[in-house]
Amino acid sequence: MSDCIFCRIATGEIPSRKIYEDDHVLAFHDIHPVAPVHFLVIPKLHIPSMAELLPEHVEVMGRVMTTAGRLAHETGCTDGFRTIVNTGRVGRQEVYHLHVHVLGGPEVLPAML
Ligand code: C5P
Repeated sequence: MSDCIFCRIATGEIPSRKIYEDDHVLAFHDIHPVAPVHFLVIPKLHIPSMAELLPEHVEVMGRVMTTAGRLAHETGCTDGFRTIVNTGRVGRQEVYHLHVHVLGGPEVLPAML
């Protein structure tokens, strides 16, 4: 989708601080980090939000989640991290291309829940 900012990041049309990329997923640093480690993992396929996930997305979402966990470890989050998926208006989603936030320390993050 050419009007989706994360699709444009996925194609390289808009630059990002890329951490990892393969045929199915992309991980890049959030432009407005709220923790010492803060990156996003997205499927390259345009899925607007978690509310639109279908059975056919199981494989790519497995790739997103395993990539998030592996990269958390590789970026120094060896003692834990937080993952957040904002969905829709109530979930305060700003970018309607499904993405997993990964937030890490080194110190314990402020409680949100
Ligand atoms: O609320 P939501 O989970 O949709 O937040 C979108 C995130 O995408 C924000 O943390 C924002 O800083 C990030 N972003 C980014 N690069 C962009 C546009 C947004 O990292 N070009």
